[in-house]
This record gives sequence, C-alpha cells and structure tokens, in this order.
Amino acid sequence: MARYSDEIIDEVRQTNDIVDIVSQYVHLKRSGRNYFGLCPFHNEKSPSFSVSPEKQIFHCFGCGVGGNVFTFLTKIEGINFVEAVQMLAERANIQLPALDNNLDNAKEQLKAKVYKVNEFAAKYYHENLYKPEAKEAQEYVKKRKLSNDTLIAFQIGFSGKFDELYKELKKQGFEDREILESGLVNRNDRGQYIDRYRNRLMFPICDVRGRVIAFGGRVLDDSKPKYINSPENIVYSKGRHLFRIKCCKKI
Ligand SMILES: [Zn+2]
Repeated sequence: MARYSDEIIDEVRQTNDIVDIVSQYVHLKRSGRNYFGLCPFHNEKSPSFSVSPEKQIFHCFGCGVGGNVFTFLTKIEGINFVEAVQMLAERANIQLPALDNNLDNAKEQLKAKVYKVNEFAAKYYHENLYKPEAKEAQEYVKKRKLSNDTLIAFQIGFSGKFDELYKELKKQGFEDREILESGLVNRNDRGQYIDRYRNRLMFPICDVRGRVIAFGGRVLDDSKPKYINSPENIVYSKGRHLFRIKCCKKI
C-alpha cells in the first residue's frame, strides 16, 4: 500500500492541534496541563478521557485507548491512516503528493462518485424548495419559522415526485450502479428506478470534511413514516457517523 513520507506526515501532524481536532467530537475542559472530557469510545458518566496539548496525544484512563491525532481520527471516523492524513492535510491546506495505487482502487472510485451524487442531490433538493411546485414545503418551513438563512446554511431542500432525482442524475452522466449505491434511488421488481425520497423536506448529513454522506427526509403532513434516512452505504455508516452528524455549512 502506498504511503506518504515521514516528513509530510510530521508536517500534517504539527499543523493540526490535537485539542482542536478532538474538540470537534468531545466537549473538553482544561484541568491543569491537560484537557478532559467524556470518552467517545466507551460509555461513561465522569470524564476519564484526557488530551495533552504538550505531548499532542490522547489517552483514556477508562478503556485504555490512546494515541496521536491520526489514531484519534482513524478510530472515531472508522477510516484508515492514509485517509486520516488526507483529511487533516486538507484541513490545514497542505498539498499532498499523489498516491498512485490509492485512486486506482475501484472502491475508492465508486466512493468518489457517490460523494458527487450526494453533492448534486443536495443542491438539486435545495433548489427545488424554491420552485412553485414546492408550495406545500414552503408553507411548512414558514410555519416552522425556518429563516431563509437557516435553509441555506443547512442546505434544506425538497424532494420531488416519482423519479425526478433519478432522471436528473442520469442527465448528469451518473451510472445506475453509482446512483443505486448512494441509496437515493431504488430499483423495483419491474426494473423501474424510483427516488427513495418523494415529497419530503430534505436534510443533508455531512462528515467532518463537509461532504454529504446521507440524507434525512421528513414528511410534510402526518403520514408515516415521519422520517426516513439513507441506508448505510459505501460512504455512510450509522455507527461510525453517530457521534457527529452535523451540517455542511456552519451557521
Ligand atoms: Zn474510554
């Protein structure tokens, strides 16, 4: 497996303070030289999870887990070391050299496509919300007192009818397997492609890098189920993302 040089890994580590990174997942409080919080890796009521800004490491006195900023990210995000380096490099605007056998991998390519499908869908749903056909959804958000700033910041949207999203995705050149993998469209027994979310208020769910990984969809009336969520897929794992479901853009 390809890897980055030690120099670049060091640079990435030094430009990402572990306290900043851990704080995105754990509420930390300073106590003496270290920070403490509730361990995200085991269930506890009093904080035994510590972070040392001097040593740039974390350690849990409860379950024994510990390591540096990369270890923390691999564990909390369920990603591998290379992905953790990439994530932190991006955050610090460090340009990484290309790793050849990384993107060659068919799985990585499919993942990249699914992120693109999700990104397009989020934009499509959001724009839909402002169309005349979305009158019912517009009334709903008004009733809920969601300001336009909130709608924009959270990229809240509205899903259309039968296979509207599917058709749009095909127009964008996505392949059926990429679309199906996103979980946004299902194929029925007769081979028809049908949007998973129809006539629902849409909430994109993003990872720490701001990539859309899943959606939640709410009905506008009292019909059931009130909410549906994306199924687990190549970019979305409920267990892994449970700790930090937050929106793409901050408000
Ligand atoms: Zn622990």
